[in-house]
Amino acid sequence: KVLCAAGVVAGLVAFFWKDDFNPESLSGARVLVTGASAGIGEQIAYHYARFGAEIVLTARREAVLQKVMEKCLTLGAKKIFYIPADMSSPSEPEKVVQFAVQKLGGLDFLVLNHIGTNRFQEWSGDVEYTRWLMQVNFLSYVALATAALPTLEQSSGALVVVSSLTGKMPTPFTTSYSATKFALDGFFGSLRHELIMQKRNVSVTLCILGLIDTASALEYTRGKVHLSASPAPEAALAIVRGGAARADEVFYPRWLRQLCCLWTLFPSSSSQVLRTFYNYSSP
Ligand code: NDP
Repeated sequence: KVLCAAGVVAGLVAFFWKDDFNPESLSGARVLVTGASAGIGEQIAYHYARFGAEIVLTARREAVLQKVMEKCLTLGAKKIFYIPADMSSPSEPEKVVQFAVQKLGGLDFLVLNHIGTNRFQEWSGDVEYTRWLMQVNFLSYVALATAALPTLEQSSGALVVVSSLTGKMPTPFTTSYSATKFALDGFFGSLRHELIMQKRNVSVTLCILGLIDTASALEYTRGKVHLSASPAPEAALAIVRGGAARADEVFYPRWLRQLCCLWTLFPSSSSQVLRTFYNYSSP
C-alpha cells in the first residue's frame, strides 16, 4: 500500500510539474560548456547554438572542438570560442573560466559535464584511479564553479551540474564513478543552500541522468547491463531547459525521480531488483 501511494504521489508530481522554460531567454546568453567535444556535452552545445547563445567549449581534443565549433556556428551560435584543457590538471579550471569571461565579457551559465574514462567494472583495488577520477569528475567541478561564482553572481546566472542516477543510488560496477557523483550531490546541494541563505542569486541545477546512448557509455556497458539507453540530444535538451528554468534538479528520463523515491523508501528490495539488470559472471 505504501509503495502504491508513493508511486501515485510521485507520478502526480511528475505529471503536473512543468518547467518555466523560455527559449528566448537563451538568445545571447553567455555559456561555458565542459566536456563539449563529444556525447551529451556536444549535444548541449548544439542546443545552446540553436537558441542563439554565445558559447565557450572546452575538452581535451582540439581538433574535435574545432569541428563542434563549426557546427555550432551553422546552427546559429552568436559567438563561439574553444579552449583545450585537461581537467586532471588542478591549474586548468581557473584558466578556462578566465578565458571564457575574457572572451564573452562574463558568464550566464556554467555547464559542468565532463568526465574522465569510466571503467564500468568490478572494484579492482585501484586507489590511484579513484584519486584521479575524483580530480577530474569532482574537484575540477568545484574549482570551475568557485572561479565562476563572482561573474555568475553579477549576471544572476546559473550553475548546471551533470550527474547520474548512480550519484543518488549506488549501482554495480561504478564504485569510483558513483563516489564522484555522490560527492557532486553533496557539495552542490550544500552550496545551493548557502547561496539562497546569503541571497546570492545564482541557481544550482543538478541533472540526474539514466543510461544515455553516447558512444562511450554504450561501449563500456556493452554486455553488462539489460537496460535501454535514452537519446543524448533529448538528455541534453532536458539539461538546457532545466538550467534555464533554474530548477533544483532535473531527472532524465523523468521516471528516475519516482525510482529514487522508491529506493529511499525501500532500499533493500529496490536494490535486489536493480541487481537483476546487471550481468555478473563470477571468476
Ligand atoms: P562522453 O565520454 O561521451 O564525453 C566526455 C567528455 O568529457 C568529452 O567531451 C571528453 O572530451 C571530455 N573529457 C574526458 N576526459 C577529460 C579530461 N580529463 N579533461 C577535460 N575533459 C575531458 O560522456 P557522456 O556524454 O556520456 O557523459 C556526459 C555527462 O553525463 C557526464 O557527467 C556523465 O557522468 C553524465 N552521465 C552520462 C550517462 C550516459 O549513460 N552517457 C549516464 C549518466 C550520467 P575529450 O576526450 O576531448 O577530453
